[in-house]
Amino acid sequence: MVSPSEITTVFSLLEKDHPLTMLEELGHYTPFQMLVMTLLSSRTRDSTTIPIVKKMFAKYPNPEHFVKMDLQELEEWLYGVGFYKVKAQNVKKLSGIILEEFHGKVPDTFEELTSLPGVGRKTANCVLAYTFKKPAIAVDIHVHRISNRLGWVKTKTPDETEEALQKLIPRDLWIEVNRLFVGHGQTICVPINPKCNICPVRKYCEYGRKRNL
Ligand code: SF4
Repeated sequence: MVSPSEITTVFSLLEKDHPLTMLEELGHYTPFQMLVMTLLSSRTRDSTTIPIVKKMFAKYPNPEHFVKMDLQELEEWLYGVGFYKVKAQNVKKLSGIILEEFHGKVPDTFEELTSLPGVGRKTANCVLAYTFKKPAIAVDIHVHRISNRLGWVKTKTPDETEEALQKLIPRDLWIEVNRLFVGHGQTICVPINPKCNICPVRKYCEYGRKRNL
């Protein structure tokens, strides 16, 4: 089992050349905007999501705007985002719930966040970590893949990975996992043909050490 000190070493090596993730780059946005952009970003490239949300929030920054907006107009704004029609419905619904049940404020607990339409474990954990700076491990495809390649976990699903990482990683580092692994997964530890030859953590990686490069 990987030790806490090795985890700290890997994180500090990844931190050195860390490219900003979308949620870091747009981290100054409001909790409502962060929630919506996290929801939209699932199964969608950042290069598609970023320009859409920047333009849309400049005109419509608050849940009040989305409650009033015609569904068709919202679908047009979100065109290009994966599953944009379902997401448009969810954004409208959750805006109404935030206004009616949470006095216009995005809730900051996992249970309340996952009670909102379209908000699953990953989105809730992203909002907790990036917006509220609370300990949470948001496991997306990058976190799931890299954790398994490093040999830290042997898991088949992101949910299993989240549970395994929670047992393995010191709680004060949970907040770092998503941003460091997403950045690494988008640039070096890509899904196909990871660039192990230039990877700063190859020495600590089960998969990378086995490769004959
Ligand atoms: S050595 Fe290769 S597989 Fe391991 S983390 Fe680096 S890029 Fe990914």
